[in-house]
Amino acid sequence: MVASISKARRGEPVMILEKTAQLGKKILASGNGRCNLLNEALDSSSYNPEARPLVNSVFSRFGRDDILTFFSELGLHYYSQDGRIFPFTNQAASVQKVLALEIKRLGVQVEYGFDCVSIQKTQTGFSLGAADGKQQTGHSLILTGGGSTYPSFGSDGSGYKLASSLGHRIIKPVPSTVPLVVKDPLCHLLQGQRIIARAQSRIQGKIGNPVDGELLFTKYGLSGSLILDISQEISLAINRLNIKDVSLETDLIPFMEQKQLETELTNRHKMGLTPEDMLTGILPGKLCLAFKQLFEKENPSKAAVKLKNWRFEVSGTRGWNEAEFTAGGIDTKEVDPQTLESKLVKGLYLAGEVLDVNGKRGGYNLGFAWASGYVAGLS
Ligand SMILES: Cc1cc2nc3c(=O)[nH]c(=O)nc-3n(C[C@H](O)[C@H](O)[C@H](O)COP(=O)(O)OP(=O)(O)OC[C@H]3O[C@@H](n4cnc5c(N)ncnc54)[C@H](O)[C@@H]3O)c2cc1C
Repeated sequence: MVASISKARRGEPVMILEKTAQLGKKILASGNGRCNLLNEALDSSSYNPEARPLVNSVFSRFGRDDILTFFSELGLHYYSQDGRIFPFTNQAASVQKVLALEIKRLGVQVEYGFDCVSIQKTQTGFSLGAADGKQQTGHSLILTGGGSTYPSFGSDGSGYKLASSLGHRIIKPVPSTVPLVVKDPLCHLLQGQRIIARAQSRIQGKIGNPVDGELLFTKYGLSGSLILDISQEISLAINRLNIKDVSLETDLIPFMEQKQLETELTNRHKMGLTPEDMLTGILPGKLCLAFKQLFEKENPSKAAVKLKNWRFEVSGTRGWNEAEFTAGGIDTKEVDPQTLESKLVKGLYLAGEVLDVNGKRGGYNLGFAWASGYVAGLS
């Protein structure tokens, strides 16, 4: 959508070929329906290292301030909450609508229901074929087919296939920002319970950076903002590198130091509290019950160590229908970082999630989609 606006504003005829019956379906679902459209701290350090040169170049041409001005000029009012930018309406539909209105104002043609299955390079440009046999031609082409997540919103990985058919290397796409499958009876027992925790990934013994946030127990394992934030490194290890030895070192009581917890539990024990009341007031009731056996088996100091270092063995991730983002995609080394033109196919431009550019949660992925779309449209 942004690529077409950028191009049409330069007076060039543009046509959008869209598989579904609506533009920007994924925007509507973003940010739990609120659309976290950007992050105040938009810079390349929040993206995968391989992509940073390209991300830097894109943001130097169309960065945070340009994106905010772009949306302001479309009439979108927004606010910032802990660095995350949302529309004032708190409705993702507002973001989609201002883009759609601009597309209409500029007279961009949109062909809905065009499920592109083939792209041929011709002498004059490109010829595109749809699943139902329809054809379209164009002088140049911006491929913005997105990733593989939530296929019902339109992007089902076909962008990777199309780019690959034109000779591009695809870094294996894996689900990211995704819940984790954990075989621990605790998860099943506590399903639906949320706590604030801190966790670090442990991949073949290597400990990752600590992440704080909400931990949600589910019947299959773990979810919540903490898990979504930490899931990318874990998904890459399990789904791309086939590593089996993956766990989460979890601090279930991050607001107390180890010594402080030991002292408090020891005092409670001396006061004669029953095992199921040892954590009353520290953790929610369901967890007090779940850890009853721990206090029956271990002394308070050992129990404190366990609660501060609970290990969940991770056996997998949930699939594409539950992931917010795809890690992987078209190798950024094959794309000109200035113009986003393919280095392999002249006249082909690439933008958005179809590229191997993975941002953190917090508005970075839409941020890159807007910026790269705009830059691709300029070229
Ligand atoms: C539930 C959810 C919540 C999210 N929340 C946020 C958030 O709050 N903040 C954030 O920064 N990011 C968020 N993301 C990620 C963000 O939405 C994506 O990174 C972003 O939409 C990518 O933009 P894109 O234009 O590259 O791809 P998409 O938005 O996926 O758009 C691709 C378009 O191409 C069309 N298409 C695909 N294949 C074909 C084909 N073969 N032929 C024709 N058309 C095709 C699709 O129908 C679609 O319209 C969220 C994602 C999900 C799933």
